[in-house]
Amino acid sequence: MRSFLMMKTLLKNLLSGPATLMYPQRKRTYTPITRGRIDNDINRCIFCGLCSRRCPTYAIVVAKDSREWQIDRLKCCTCNLCVEICPVKCLSMEIQYSSPIGERTAGIYKLKATVEGKAEDKSKGE
Ligand code: SF4
Ligand code: SF4
Repeated sequence: MRSFLMMKTLLKNLLSGPATLMYPQRKRTYTPITRGRIDNDINRCIFCGLCSRRCPTYAIVVAKDSREWQIDRLKCCTCNLCVEICPVKCLSMEIQYSSPIGERTAGIYKLKATVEGKAEDKSKGE
């Protein structure tokens, strides 16, 4: 019975194609529910700090006085809790993943809203 199951698995693997894609020739199409990275429409942020307080990995830092919002993408576990809790829905879960980085601090992505309400991107890494 075991050898029958093994042969069945072997044949299935031989007849089906590889599970991996020939990247970068073929790129994967992500589904709408893919959890890639968190983004913030900073002009709509009211700097209430709820996302920071609820984040289980302490990935978000909110500075109300200087109107700055920061996320450490290497700490984020893409649980989506901050997106769900944000009262003005300015946070979103993008389907794109962050680019590979070479140093620890490059994962920190910082946004600053100006007094006029326009965002200034102060990111170190994307
Ligand atoms: S919960 Fe939303 S509005 Fe509040 S600080 Fe975070 S991103 Fe800004
Ligand atoms: S998705 Fe989860 S881990 Fe990532 S910043 Fe939001 S609350 Fe924190």
